[in-house]
Amino acid sequence: MKKIVVIHYGEIAIKGENRIYFERQLIKNIKRVLSKTEYIEIQRLRGRIIIFLTEAASEESLAIRLGNIFGIANFSFGVGVETDLQVMKETAWELIQPMAFESFSVNTRRAQKEFELNSMQLNREVGGYIQDRCKKRVDLTNPEATVHIELTERGAFLFTRKLPGLRGMPVGVSERAVSLLSSGIDSPVASHMMMKRGVHLVYAHFHSQPYTSKASQDNTEKLVELLTKLQYYSKVYFVPFIDIQKEIMTKAPAPFRVLLYRRYMIRLSERIAGIERCRALVTGENVAQVASQTLSNIRVVGEVTSLPILRPLAGFDKDEIVQRARTIGTYDISIAPYEDCCTLFIPDKPATKAHSDRLEAAEKLLEMDDLLDEAMQRAEMKIFRSGE
Ligand code: ATP
Ligand code: MG
Repeated sequence: MKKIVVIHYGEIAIKGENRIYFERQLIKNIKRVLSKTEYIEIQRLRGRIIIFLTEAASEESLAIRLGNIFGIANFSFGVGVETDLQVMKETAWELIQPMAFESFSVNTRRAQKEFELNSMQLNREVGGYIQDRCKKRVDLTNPEATVHIELTERGAFLFTRKLPGLRGMPVGVSERAVSLLSSGIDSPVASHMMMKRGVHLVYAHFHSQPYTSKASQDNTEKLVELLTKLQYYSKVYFVPFIDIQKEIMTKAPAPFRVLLYRRYMIRLSERIAGIERCRALVTGENVAQVASQTLSNIRVVGEVTSLPILRPLAGFDKDEIVQRARTIGTYDISIAPYEDCCTLFIPDKPATKAHSDRLEAAEKLLEMDDLLDEAMQRAEMKIFRSGE
């Protein structure tokens, strides 16, 4: 009898070669959070991944780590035995016996059809064996306890409880993107959503030190530390933005300032994307959340790059975003007091329907080339790791 974890993933759409790629990335991500003393081997079997555990492995601690991996739909701790009817009966009984239940069911899935009994027959045989011992009722629709049996080419896997995973796609299967991470509530949630689709993120944070304290950078670091648990390795570019802001503030019309800040952030992020071979940008922008987030403004901000800008929060209400931020644990970090680089020098009335011509005209008056190069040269890159 071997201690195992059975891992199921969702997304039936993954077929053919994509599936192998998906499974390999998932196994790679799983290995990153396991220590060598915890497992003997990891096997990829039709539609599921099996981890063979060592005696030393602790289920409780593993459950937390596996619960933080994108791409897992659910996972179960159980045992692997040979595909032999008597052995399966006894094992099923051993697993279910310590549970408190009045009704139960046996649920068999066959990934390998060679066993002499089909799923229904095996359910009945094993169910009958358990019933003889405990005299409890079989209930197929709403049982209090279930023994799952999965027959595979590597033997039978039995378990009683499925723990929910994070779902989504394994980080790393969907190329890379630069996420513009302020230390506000929205952008960490946007980042989380894109990682959930398998995108590996490189972060860009723009700061106004020494005009603001280091708090926004410190907060951003805390956020990245937390988000790195989901992708194991993150690079963050801390880009000094104050000189660019000053140039805008002194030479551009007040209503355009916020949009101009954003356009230069996008341009710098595009440069980072070039260095890091990223295929898209991610922001926490949302339609109509604040007066400046109109479709016209979203358009003029996006115009300065040819990279697609992913805005996963575009259609959410603020309370939905806050709810998500709480669930993923970024909310408390995001609400810590700090001065955002954009709260500095923010005009009272930003333009709500800006036109590209007018922004381009305003940009013609700015001397930005050297300032942009300098910002990139002075940017500090930091690496965060987790899971080792
Ligand atoms: P957030 O809650 O993420 O700060 P927000 O609701 O404050 O967003 P804006 O201030 O309009 O909205 O910013 C829109 C997006 O621009 C942010 O979600 C983020 O992706 C990006 N952004 C804004 N400020 C910065 C910054 N200082 N560094 C990096 N990205 C930023
Ligand atoms: Mg903000």
